[in-house]
Amino acid sequence: MAEAAALPQTDVLAIAAHRDDVEQTCGGTLLRMAARGLRTAILDLTRGEAGTRGTAEERGREASQAAKLLGVSWREALDIPDGNVENIYENRAKIARVVRLLRPRVVILPYWQARHPDHAIVAALGYEACFLAGLAKVDTGAAPYRPFKIVYASLYADVRPSFVVDITPFIEQRHASLMAYRSQYLNQSAGTALFVPEDEIRERTYAEARHYGLLAGVKYGEPFVQKEVGLVDDLTLLPVQSI
Ligand SMILES: [Zn+2]
Repeated sequence: MAEAAALPQTDVLAIAAHRDDVEQTCGGTLLRMAARGLRTAILDLTRGEAGTRGTAEERGREASQAAKLLGVSWREALDIPDGNVENIYENRAKIARVVRLLRPRVVILPYWQARHPDHAIVAALGYEACFLAGLAKVDTGAAPYRPFKIVYASLYADVRPSFVVDITPFIEQRHASLMAYRSQYLNQSAGTALFVPEDEIRERTYAEARHYGLLAGVKYGEPFVQKEVGLVDDLTLLPVQSI
């Protein structure tokens, strides 16, 4: 991992349990932020060794390829056990070390209710790690730092989002980043009962993006939940039309 001095401050860091989670839930948002000139990064907590399809090494290569397609400046995977992500101090400290190295202004976490237990745990684990990163007496070899904002990617949760990011210009590129995981998504005999056929992935992901886009009056969107109440300076600058 590169040292702190070599890394400019990151604007947006997405933290997720598994390689390919970010591509599904906030890949279009990362593309949009990069297009705005912001510096983006991805931290995957596991390496995919428990997956039905592919090996951890294959998924590592695919994650690098996907990171290029998403235009992120930095991507690494921790060694937390796949399928057994726990909110324990050891894991919080590993994430806090990365938060201090990258110094992100915004952190994206998965929403706190999810079918896959790893996803739900990362919501709490990531939040507590960001808090830990700001404690001066916790020594990770880097200066204390706490992100300004945490938002939760809620694509797979049945909740009303706080806001939606317009990903319309980036939907094809987001799809390409997901399909970079050839070991997972190309048609094959292993795991056919678990995985959606390749030709249905596009239809499903585009339909989800269309659904969330419609909520905000754009074609394709990605949903997020923020815990805090929004603060407004000027009512005339609110971005979404009412009627
Ligand atoms: Zn996942």
